This record gives sequence, structure tokens and C-alpha cells, in this order.
Amino acid sequence: MCRAFQPPLLPSARCATERGATLGPPATVCDAQAAARSLRGGTPLAVSQVEDRPGTWLERMMAASHAKGIIYGPVSSSQFGRSLGVDPLPPPYRVCTYDCVYCAFRHLPPGLRGTRWPTPGEVGSALANALPEAGQLDSITLSGHGEPTLHPRFGSLVAEVLSAARHARPGVPVRIVTNGSMVCHEDVRRALDLLDERIVKLDAGAERVCRPDACHPLGAVIAALPRLRDMTIQSCFIEGVVENTDADSVQEWVDLIGELQPQAVQIYTPSWLGGEADVVPAPGWRLDEIAAQLEEQSGIHPSVYNEISQSP
Ligand code: SF4
Repeated sequence: MCRAFQPPLLPSARCATERGATLGPPATVCDAQAAARSLRGGTPLAVSQVEDRPGTWLERMMAASHAKGIIYGPVSSSQFGRSLGVDPLPPPYRVCTYDCVYCAFRHLPPGLRGTRWPTPGEVGSALANALPEAGQLDSITLSGHGEPTLHPRFGSLVAEVLSAARHARPGVPVRIVTNGSMVCHEDVRRALDLLDERIVKLDAGAERVCRPDACHPLGAVIAALPRLRDMTIQSCFIEGVVENTDADSVQEWVDLIGELQPQAVQIYTPSWLGGEADVVPAPGWRLDEIAAQLEEQSGIHPSVYNEISQSP
């Protein structure tokens, strides 16, 4: 049995999130845990810093989404080309079901439970207003400083985003970057399937690296992923105090990817880290080894984004 990915909990224990509120973060039984966690590190960068530095699209998005509100970018990267970002989360703190060791966003502190989420209409209007000025685009990406599927009206949000995008840019695909933890909710899965691409984060050694809350065990998340229409898996590799480039973690990840058979796999290492101080990027040669191992054992050829070597 895969050591890093535990079997699902009983259905009654899965995904205890209560959905349906129109304002405020989703009420979950994990709010108390999230609030109790201490704030640490991860001060967002200013936009000027974002545009000057190398890094993956995810990293640039992490900084840009904090700095620019609902709409940010366009952000250019070798992964996604020139993409306009849509961040539907309530600023300024992270709202997420995970606590990744490399995450640059800061925890939601106690007392901010009532922070207002942008409504689906506000998000759609913001996108509609931004698109005429956005220039050439390769995609529109729904992603932000936390997990976008936690939006309490996620289905309506997707409908508004698609409506604005199809009207102004009918040929531009709309994708989402998600940790996949809400796929077990049927309404979320159906909304996800309406988008043009689902990029699901799934790291090796995920329990140690992503540290999901008690409501979203990795086993339940992984069990639900095949219900998606299709998906691209995006995996981050790191080293240091917490690492996932060791042989056991990589083999478990390779086996899992082979079982899931995603339509594409992206692997990368962060070139800047906002989370744990003693976590460092994985070397490029190790990413190449991991990519070769995945291809040899599963037949899946992953894209490798190691932009560290291109840094000035
Ligand atoms: S999934 Fe991980 S990296 Fe993404 S916002 Fe949540 S904690 Fe941060």
C-alpha cells in the first residue's frame, strides 16, 4: 500500500465542509484548527518584484494575486503562456484546506471568519472589465491566494467567469489551478468539469508536504480525482527539512500517477519559498531523474519546469 497516501476515511468523515453561505469563508469544522495555527512568514511581494523575478507561473501568481485583487496579470510563464489571473478569494489571507510547507500565503488569522468573499457577479464583472485591456492572452486562469473551489458559490462563480470569458475572448481557454480537495463535492466537481482545463496539485509525499486539514485527507481526495472529466497533475518537489525527492516518495508518486493516468503532468520546484525556512528547491538534475522515472514506468512524459537554472 502506498505509504504517503492513506486510504479514505469513512464517507461520514469526508469533506465536512458546510457549503451554501453567500458571504464569509466556508464554515468548516476545520476553521478552528486553521485559526489556531500561528501566522508565519510569506509576506507577499509587490507587483514590481513579481514582474522582475524568475519563477513558475504558480509563484508569480502567488505574489501577483495578493497585490492586484480579483484580477491580476497577465502573468507570463513557460507553463501557461500569457495568462490573465482571476482570484476569487477574500483578501488578504490564505483560505485553504492545505498548509503546504512551501506556500507563500499567510494563514487566515483568528477573527477573520467574516471576511467577505467577492460574489460571483463581482468576479464576472471584474473579468469582463479587464479583458478588453488585457492584450494577447493564451489563457484565463482561476487561481488565487488559497483554494478557489472553497468559494461558497463556486458553481455560480464558474458560470460568471465562463460567461465573461466566452463573450470577450471566445477562443481563449479557461483553466483552474486547484488542490482537488473539494472534488468529492458533486456540485464542485460538476463546475470544475465545465472549465477547459483542470490543473490539480498533487505532490509526492503529500501528507508531509501539503499537510491537509483533518477534513480533507489525501486518501479521500485521491479517491475522488478520477471523477473529474480529465486533469493535468502539477507536482512540486522540494528538499530540506521536509522533502519529497527521496526514492520512496518518488516511487509512490510515480505509482499513483500511473494509476490516475492524467492527460498531462507538470513537475517543478519553487524558485522562491514563502513557507518553512528550511525547505529549499530541488536541483534540476533530480527533477530530470524523476521525469525519466515517471516516463519509464508509466509511459507518461511530464513537462519539467526548473526555472532556477535560468535565474540571473
Ligand atoms: S494548496 Fe498549498 S500552495 Fe496552494 S494555497 Fe493551499 S497551502 Fe498554499
